[in-house]
Amino acid sequence: GARAGIVVTGTEVLTGRVTDRNGPWLAEQLRRVGLDVGQVVVVGDRPEDLRSALGFLAAGNDLVITSGGLGPTADDLTAEVVGDVQGRPSAVDEELAGRIGAIVARLMARRGWQSDPASTEAATRKQARVPRGAVVLEPVGTAPGLVVPPAEGDGPPVVVLPGPPTELQAMWPAALAAAPVRAVLERAVELRQDTLRLWGTPENELAATLRRVDDQLTGLEITTCLRDGELEIVTRYAPDATAAYRRLVEAVRTDFGGTLVSEGPDVDTLVAQALESRGLTVATAESCTGGQLVARLIDRPGASAWVPGGVVSYSNTAKEELLGVSAQTLATVGAVSPEVARQLADGARSRFGADVGIGVTGIAGPGGGSPDKPVGTVHLCAVGPDGAVTRSLVVPGDRAAFRKRTVTVGMHLLRH
Ligand code: ATP
Ligand code: MG
Repeated sequence: GARAGIVVTGTEVLTGRVTDRNGPWLAEQLRRVGLDVGQVVVVGDRPEDLRSALGFLAAGNDLVITSGGLGPTADDLTAEVVGDVQGRPSAVDEELAGRIGAIVARLMARRGWQSDPASTEAATRKQARVPRGAVVLEPVGTAPGLVVPPAEGDGPPVVVLPGPPTELQAMWPAALAAAPVRAVLERAVELRQDTLRLWGTPENELAATLRRVDDQLTGLEITTCLRDGELEIVTRYAPDATAAYRRLVEAVRTDFGGTLVSEGPDVDTLVAQALESRGLTVATAESCTGGQLVARLIDRPGASAWVPGGVVSYSNTAKEELLGVSAQTLATVGAVSPEVARQLADGARSRFGADVGIGVTGIAGPGGGSPDKPVGTVHLCAVGPDGAVTRSLVVPGDRAAFRKRTVTVGMHLLRH
């Protein structure tokens, strides 16, 4: 097999101002083409840190990818540093400079910007400075990507990609097609990847099952991940380990039949399929989740076919006036109650003329809890053609985690 390492550059990523999207995306793409990803390293815009990250990754990998630092400004140093490390000093590629110049001129014209020709020229020439002998990947924005093999010795080629995720992703196919990368891919081993999803099984119980059948699972790389109450089992394996994978599925089904909700698709897909196949629509009435449930439902393209809309009713007045929740119920059992969840669901259903209504009410915290209704208490109710289902639980975590987890509970309610 062959391995790859990733360096994500950018002080904004290092400090968390921008959340890294390139590392995870590249890791997934590399795995898809059969490369094992060893490390993702994040460095700020400091040449010496990039240099040492490249040295670290070169030691154990057959391919190294970098993201970011290809722009026209002085802090964009990736091309220069990678060239140095690979023993290929940089020089302006005049033809490339011409192409970048044309792209910049088009961009400026389209945006109606005036520019100082001297500074545009300087920026263009900076971006056209590439290591000698590198493969140039055509710019998607204004920055070219690069594939830089070592000038001598047998170190890994370094693929240099721009930071903006859409640019990086658009350039990826060209990077895979470059000769030095193709040579590495010849040694790649494509693995299958399958996912089992459990809802309501604790991780330690799953661990016990995996230990019990461990000797039958040779050839499987199994990772389990608990997320928002869902337990995911991701398995990678070569085609000749397919029988072992079937044994894993059997063991999980035997021990956790009731909570094994999927042998592939995620809950969002299951909900969409369930609603579409029955031709049902769903409307939401949310309090503590602030619209995140309807946001998740409409995250799928085509959701307009089954989601007419949702209401965020945070105050009691809004619950009464927008959704017809009874003032008396609010006064007696309180807004955070199974009764109000039910009335919210009914209200959403009738307001939107939907087949299914779902209501959510709870206490996200950190304040507002009481001994009989601790922070994290939440009630959900889904009402549809088959009747009503209510779930009451106490969700752990802070405000943000509470909302995410509660929305996931809501999605599982809608699965049926
Ligand atoms: P540019 O020509 O835009 O400067 P560049 O290759 O120099 O391209 P960067 O300066 O590193 O790219 O990043 C430009 C912007 O792209 C960042 O400010 C950020 O918004 C986004 N970006 C960069 N790296 C990442 C990343 N790893 N994840 C998400 N967004 C990123
Ligand atoms: Mg930049």
